Amino acid sequence: MLTSADLRPAPAPHQRTAPPALLGRDSAAAYRGLVADVADRIAARFAAVERPWTGAAPAALAPSIAAVDLDRPLESFEAAFDEVGALYLDDAVWFHHPRYLAHLNCPVALPAVAAETVLAAVNTSVDTWDQSAGGTLIEQRLVEWTAQRLGLGPDADGVFTSGGTQSNLQALLLARDEAVEAQQLKHEVEHGTPLRGVEVLPRLRFFASPHSHFSVVKAARLLGLGEDAVVTVPADDWFRMNPAALDAAIETCREQGNVPAAIVATAGTTDFGSVDPLAPVAEIAAAHRVWLHVDAAYGCGLLVSLEHRALLAGVEAADSVTVDYHKSFFQPVSSSALLVRDRAALRHVTHHADYLNPAEGALPNQVDKSLQTTRRFDALKLWMTLRTLGPDAIGAMFDRVCALADETWDWLASDPRFEVAAPPSQLSTVLFRLAGADDATHRRAREALAASGEGMVAATRVEGRIALKLTLLNPETALDDVVPVLEALARHGKTAQEAV
Ligand SMILES: *Cc1c(COP(=O)(O)O)cnc(C)c1O
Repeated sequence: MLTSADLRPAPAPHQRTAPPALLGRDSAAAYRGLVADVADRIAARFAAVERPWTGAAPAALAPSIAAVDLDRPLESFEAAFDEVGALYLDDAVWFHHPRYLAHLNCPVALPAVAAETVLAAVNTSVDTWDQSAGGTLIEQRLVEWTAQRLGLGPDADGVFTSGGTQSNLQALLLARDEAVEAQQLKHEVEHGTPLRGVEVLPRLRFFASPHSHFSVVKAARLLGLGEDAVVTVPADDWFRMNPAALDAAIETCREQGNVPAAIVATAGTTDFGSVDPLAPVAEIAAAHRVWLHVDAAYGCGLLVSLEHRALLAGVEAADSVTVDYHKSFFQPVSSSALLVRDRAALRHVTHHADYLNPAEGALPNQVDKSLQTTRRFDALKLWMTLRTLGPDAIGAMFDRVCALADETWDWLASDPRFEVAAPPSQLSTVLFRLAGADDATHRRAREALAASGEGMVAATRVEGRIALKLTLLNPETALDDVVPVLEALARHGKTAQEAV
């Protein structure tokens, strides 16, 4: 008979290394020292950061990272931390800096950062009850709380996800499988023969505005529908889906013998912060009996807003909703959720494994609702934030960045060196150009700005031409912080123009 030594031969003595220091009873004191030390070092960094970024190029950082010998550890954690200070922290991008104005990144709520250390240490996995216990119930309470704020009704449910991309993928998977089932049932009734699911897939269509997130198209591809399955519904001059055009597009889809499987309305487009007209879109979805998904990855902050909640009117009619707490709830990455109106729809991602979540069990297992198995207890961060700061404080912070976007738009519109490239945002983005400058000038000005460390802005295209974009998500940033960045851009733009 084989022994375990035959199956797993012991390594030669010279291959043995010192056991890694694991977190446990005997290392509790070491843990405290380590975390306190890291907290000191990071606190010192936060106190000293003078610019959002050094503008380091990949070629500047790559050699020193490539030179690290990963097979030969350093003598201590401190030495490793010093090393990573030089390799990473010195040139990190600091989202909390008041002149970081680029993408949908937020400074993070302190209670959430503290909670992050808890979930890393306890290492709960919210997949089954027997790996998370109270963690499961805390996540479920937050799902309930969010669904209630959305107004999704008594049968709502959901699950935390890794981000908006995953939330959108799961929402569209549910919509796809609901549509496939409906088509199979219809076929049975009409023809008396079964229809295979894969035969339905090529006929399924999703509907979204041109300003919806790229993860919608990606989801269509991943779900076996192909990119062409996403029908682009025209938007109005404020970058919001045109409901009449949606209605017409669904009619056309049906006439072609295809199956409208989901409408994706965006509550806060990534570029423009525009909110599709949810109530009229929901009416069309109901009239055509099509799944309505609302992508509120960015706009979910409206759920706690004290001033702009009305922008979400109609979201209560959605079949599914994506929320990214790691955008407008000031949570550390990752923190996102997918909510559904009818918990039964989540069965499309349920699979029972004997070793994990047997079908005969009666325990609350979040894995039954998730695309992931092992999963972080990200919900704890939002929980601690709500229990420490409360929802109104988060809402007020989101309102503040929306107001800053208005102030910034007004400032740009009144300065002849600039032109606004879009109407004022419904949320907190600002699109603009340097007056009289071409694409190349904009590109050079943005690069020069980033390299100088004076500030960071994003860029996108509006009507085919490059526009610069500010995404304002820092409630501690004031117009006085934004203006010097704009002034610097104007200067860099002028230099770039003079150089040609
Ligand atoms: C950011 C964003 C996403 C993707 O979310 P991730 O968390 O980055 O995966 C989806 N939709 C919209 C509208 C977004 O702004």
